[in-house]
Amino acid sequence: MLDIRPNIPLQALNTLALPSRAEHFCRVTSNEQLLEALDWARANRQRITVLGGGSNVVLAGDIPGLVVAMAIPGISLAGQTAEKCLVSVGAGENWHQLVLHTLAQGWFGLENLALIPGLAGAAPIQNIGAYGVELRERFHSLEALHVHTGERVSMYIDDCRFGYRDSVFKQSGRDRYVITSVTLALSSVPELRLEYPALQQALADHDPVDITPALVAEVVCEIRRSKLPDPVHLPNAGSFFKNPVISAEQSVELQRSYPHLVSYPQPDGRVKLAAGWLVDQAGWKGTVRGNVGVHDQQALVLVNRGGTGEELLALADAIAHSVYQQFEVELELEPRVYP
Ligand code: FAD
Ligand code: NAP
Repeated sequence: MLDIRPNIPLQALNTLALPSRAEHFCRVTSNEQLLEALDWARANRQRITVLGGGSNVVLAGDIPGLVVAMAIPGISLAGQTAEKCLVSVGAGENWHQLVLHTLAQGWFGLENLALIPGLAGAAPIQNIGAYGVELRERFHSLEALHVHTGERVSMYIDDCRFGYRDSVFKQSGRDRYVITSVTLALSSVPELRLEYPALQQALADHDPVDITPALVAEVVCEIRRSKLPDPVHLPNAGSFFKNPVISAEQSVELQRSYPHLVSYPQPDGRVKLAAGWLVDQAGWKGTVRGNVGVHDQQALVLVNRGGTGEELLALADAIAHSVYQQFEVELELEPRVYP
């Protein structure tokens, strides 16, 4: 039986620790409970907001309607050959624990994505990526319920239209589906991806034969712990802005004025800029504004020391504005802002 409660605090359920409240709240541990929640919302004309680990949201005020916290569990092997395996994961499973579990089973491929906060069901939303690997490279399919009809849908890679920190769920499919499980296409034999510079550097002293997927995960965790604030101690939502992708012409132009511009050519001919470098160059690293600020080691991470979503968004706005003034490059927020 689904337990729907009114006026529930969400501060402990978002990694920015923003003091928001849900008008109504429930936690779903099965497809049946999720269907009940969708039925309730439809019958009561309430909108649905799905919450995973709350690590990529800015709760800038109270959330009207029904907040559905995803808690559907389960990790199972859906198929295996000598070289490949399909692993189905409930949307409520913790992502990092999943990475560790797969490695322990000898299912490889998620090692570069270790220590990303949040739940498995949110991974397709922005096609999570880190250290040279994106979810889409390990994705097979997902199951979801349609928010308005409750219909169960299966979606494959082409349906998800994955892009750089992007997918159909941030575009035309926004707010239409609740993902209930994700099936990953992993490998039964290690296929290491070590081209990311920070990873190469950290592994430089290791004999290549000693480099295992578990070691890669360990090293990724070490680098992340050394560079990023832990939200438990300093509330944050990771990168606050996406890395902008600009035309090759604009990049050449910028390079003239900024020879140290950090840029990466993309397969489509455009160029990705490091948003953190832009924010740093604009002088924001370490800025403190009331109860919010910019992390002093990583300019892309905004931190909350007891402030509100409004304060945080005002700071983000000021940063984006000054970066635009200096570089004529628009910064887009990475986390989703609610309500
Ligand atoms: P939430 O924040 O709860 O939700 C994010 C969005 O997805 C919301 O719009 C929500 O409605 C929607 N959503 C969540 N679950 C579902 C579902 N089951 N069905 C439908 N919609 C759903 N991201 C990266 O890509 N790479 C990184 O390396 C990375 N590092 C991070 C480091 C830190 C310290 C932090 C705080 C964040 C980082 N992130 C990173 C961002 C974040 O962890 C990921 O985007 C993660 O996938 C979000 O998961 P979540 O469960 O917390 O989602
Ligand atoms: P970093 O290594 O200091 O690099 C800065 C930026 O340059 C990154 O955003 C990365 O883009 C890009 N980059 C570096 N080398 C690259 C290469 N060889 N080819 C293409 N792009 C390259 O970054 P960091 O801040 O410490 O983060 C390390 C990794 O963790 C990155 O992949 C980053 O995306 C991920 N991360 C993400 C979040 C988040 O909230 N989204 C938070 C923390 C860390 P990419 O971001 O495209 O990789």
